[in-house]
Parts: sequence; structure tokens; C-alpha cells
Amino acid sequence: MHDINALKELLKTPKEVMITTHHKPDADALGSSLGLAGYLKKKGHRVTVITPSDYPNFLAWMSGNEDVLVYSKENDELVHRIIDEAQVIFCLDFSVLSRINEMGEYIREAKGTKVLIDHHLQPEQFADLDYSKTTAAATAELVYDLIKEMGEADLIDTHIGECLYAGIMTDTGSFRHPSTSKNVHLIIADLLHIGVNASNIHRLIYDSSSELRLRFLGYALKDKLVVLPEFKTAYIAISADELKAYDSKTGDTEGLVNFALSIEGIVFAAVIIDRSQGVKMSFRSVGNFSVNDFARENFSGGGHKNASGGISTDTLENTVAKFEGLLPKYKEQLNSSTN
Ligand code: 5GP
Ligand code: MN
Repeated sequence: MHDINALKELLKTPKEVMITTHHKPDADALGSSLGLAGYLKKKGHRVTVITPSDYPNFLAWMSGNEDVLVYSKENDELVHRIIDEAQVIFCLDFSVLSRINEMGEYIREAKGTKVLIDHHLQPEQFADLDYSKTTAAATAELVYDLIKEMGEADLIDTHIGECLYAGIMTDTGSFRHPSTSKNVHLIIADLLHIGVNASNIHRLIYDSSSELRLRFLGYALKDKLVVLPEFKTAYIAISADELKAYDSKTGDTEGLVNFALSIEGIVFAAVIIDRSQGVKMSFRSVGNFSVNDFARENFSGGGHKNASGGISTDTLENTVAKFEGLLPKYKEQLNSSTN
């Protein structure tokens, strides 16, 4: 559903605007938020972007990053006040309020008009206005479409464009997932036309590893990868001690799951990591096997058909055992998963 007329009306006069996105923002979460923030500021609104947690350093180049407020226990009151005073609250790149941790309940109760811009499956009904589309490749694609539909594509400058480019590039796996539509390529053509430096963004995001991160990747692939051909499944489980040994930073494990999925014949990949807030899981699939369903049914999670995540409050060992124990139930689906 696209409430464009109501949005036009809402944003006609300058407003106090707050934008938020999901826990541990990735390039689409942060890029769509900062791209939208850049546009709204140009229209004369007062905008604050608040993230529910920190995010990787390789995203810090984005224009507007310096003004992002990262939620913590210490600034809880300030964040609560900003949410309270916001006339418009944009929720980007997530579809359930539990994805923004403590902030979720503040936003549920907030008086401001809530606008959801998102592309995840099965959204929770908490927003007043909606500019979501589950077939969109990225929330950044939707932000671009929204600005265009507002008739203000001319406000998209290279700063805004770079944020949106980063979101679309990463969520499409550098333009290779099935979600990479004609609309995606047309948007990218427009962004290149206004001067967005695509190869620079690619380098900033993908070629900024520390030496230790690369050695961690080597260790994970050599010693931690488990391949289960019977279930066309591969997974990597990482303990808290292993994260510590490699001084793992936010974002250092991003992309790891894709290596497991790159094995010939594998249609389902998982990365299972013992984090301080629980055991966090990343799922990826190719073809019909829905990791959205798998995450929802078994690990209180969700996401997209071919990319999802979940969480477990059990130990790493028990979570891995549960994961392996579930596979026989899905064996038929896994073995018939094709594009
Ligand atoms: P990632 O594995 O990159 O963290 O997440 C893959 C996709 O699943 C993203 O679209 C992300 O927003 C979604 N996702 C990750 N973890 C969770 C979760 O715990 N709950 C829900 N609903 N979605 C998740
Ligand atoms: Mn996204």
C-alpha cells in the first residue's frame, strides 16, 4: 500500500521528524535512513536519525552519519523525549517493533504519525501510513521511489544518492539476487547520472577489512564450516570466545553466511553466533526454500524468503543441536528447492 497523498499532505509544512531503523543497522537500514533524512532536511524539516544499536564502521562515511544518535541505556531519557516530541516517525527497513529493542514500545505509544517504509514479509500493524512493498529489493529503492513520487527527484544530490546506492547495492548482493529488477537498474542509472561514485562506495563497504577480520574469515571457513550434503545445508557456528580471540567488531561477521551458500549444491546456509544478547542466527537460501518461514517457525525471527534472521536464548551448543535436529523435517523441501 502506498499512502502517497497522505504523505504529501503530512510533509507539506516543516515538521519535527524522527527516523529509525533496525538493530545493528546494515547498509540498507542506515543508507535508506540517511538518504531520507537528507531529503527531508532539504525540504525544511527538523530530522533526527536514531539507531537502536551501533553499526559497522564501514558505514560511517555516509553523509549525515555524524548526527546519528545511537540508543543506549545512558541516553534512554533523551531518546524517549525525542520520540515523544516527534510529529512524524519514520520506521525504515524493519517490519516488527521487536527489531528496535527498547525503542519499540516507546514508538508504539508515541503520538506522532508513524510511517513504515519497508520490504520485509508479514509486517506488524503499528504504522499509520505505509510506503512498503515486499517485492522491493531494498528499502533504499523505496525511498528513491517515494521521493520521485513526491515529484522531487531533483532534490536527490550525490550525498543522498550515495546513501541510497549503498543500500540497493548491498541488499541486492551487488545486483545479483533475483530482486534486482529493471526498476533497480533504472534507479542506479539515475544515481550514476547525478555523479554517484559507484566503485568508491563498493570499496568503502567491501574492501575495508582489518587483517584480523580476514584471518577470522579464514579460520571460520577452514575450521568451523559444517557441510551436510544430505540436507543441502551448510552452517558455521561461532562461540563468544572465538569472537573475542579475533577481536570481532560490529559488522565483522557480515557476509560470512554467503560463503557457506556459495558451495555447489548447497541451498540453505546459516551462521550461528553466540552474542551477548543471545544466540543470533543468519539464514540464507537459494530457490523456493523459505528461510523467512524457517526463522519464524523455529527461532522467533523473520525477514525475506531468501534472507532472514532469528534469535535463541538457549546456549550455542543447544541452538546448534536444535538447528541440526530440525533439518530432517525440512529434508524434502530442501532437496527440491530450485529457482
Ligand atoms: P542478517 O542475516 O543480514 O542479519 O538479516 C537478514 C534479513 O533478516 C534482514 O532483512 C534482517 O532485517 C532480517 N532479520 C535478521 N534478524 C532478524 C530477526 O531476529 N527478526 C526478524 N523479524 N528479522 C530479522
Ligand atoms: Mn533492507
